Amino acid sequence: MRVLSGTKPTGDQLHLGNYFGALRQFVALQEKYEDALYFIADYHSMTSVRDAATRRRNAFNVALDYLAAGLDPDRAILFRQSDIPEVCELTWLLTSITPMGMLERAHAYKAAMDRGESVDHGLFTYPVLMAADILLYRADLVPVGQDQKQHIEMARDMAQRFNNTYGSEALVLPEPYILRDAATIPGTDGQKMSKSYDNTIAMFAPKKQLKKSVMGIVTDSTPVEEPKDPAGALFELWRLFATPEEHREMAERARAGGLGYGEVKKDLLARLLDHFGPMRERRASFEERPDDVEDILRRGAQRARAIGAPVLEACRAAAGLGAPT
Ligand code: AMP
Repeated sequence: MRVLSGTKPTGDQLHLGNYFGALRQFVALQEKYEDALYFIADYHSMTSVRDAATRRRNAFNVALDYLAAGLDPDRAILFRQSDIPEVCELTWLLTSITPMGMLERAHAYKAAMDRGESVDHGLFTYPVLMAADILLYRADLVPVGQDQKQHIEMARDMAQRFNNTYGSEALVLPEPYILRDAATIPGTDGQKMSKSYDNTIAMFAPKKQLKKSVMGIVTDSTPVEEPKDPAGALFELWRLFATPEEHREMAERARAGGLGYGEVKKDLLARLLDHFGPMRERRASFEERPDDVEDILRRGAQRARAIGAPVLEACRAAAGLGAPT
């Protein structure tokens, strides 16, 4: 069983949606399956980041976040997507068997259109590059948040079309791995947490900034003494840091009245700092050793390429490309 996933380097650091929706599962799955690949999706960042130095810095930051969260480079293969250019060639092979209609239904593309953004070809074909990311390494299981489920289904569809078209068995159909309780983490405004909505809580922001984000979580204006519905962004975020027993108690207190949103926010902040404290220290120690981080990525790329290159070669041969062997 091979596990694979990636994260787009589009900011200074990952947020709670990335962590609870994906990264935490990466770490748990590396214990369960020996064969795991996690990459930094810097090709994908090209549709939104247009500055080379920023992309490099963001990619380095994702590497730090991966290592800080507990990914172990001796177990899992950590690498930068763009160190394996074979993925671009596989993208082309898949592009030519992918119907336009499928891509027109992709959520990320539709959401950008709805926001009235000018959409470039890269964003439109992003599900094909994502399919190539997965299929190049014959991954079986892809841990992701709910927002990526549709793209995994498209990757399955493309794999099947390619195999059927060329009578090949080169590509493996992947399965998504989505935790029900962390499928969609809400942001401070109650929508899905996302950098596009400017509603994120960063994993390793300075304490002052974290406090500002947490205190800014939108709540209604129910007075302290009134009963409250223990739902909504604040309770959902708090729950991520609590045991089921603690959550039951908190829900009872909310329904009984007398619990203020401010108290829940303060407790959430304390739990957040506590939870990410040891990771913050690990991150700082890697940050001081950028050459070691680069070595890890270089080694990871060699291992990833050793898996991916023969798969691309099998696809090329099946499709009648290159000199006959
Ligand atoms: P991205 O930043 O789009 O590369 O996302 C990296 C991973 O984080 C993907 O598996 C996403 O599904 C996951 N993710 C991002 N935002 C959220 C969210 N608000 N809730 C759950 N998962 C998320």
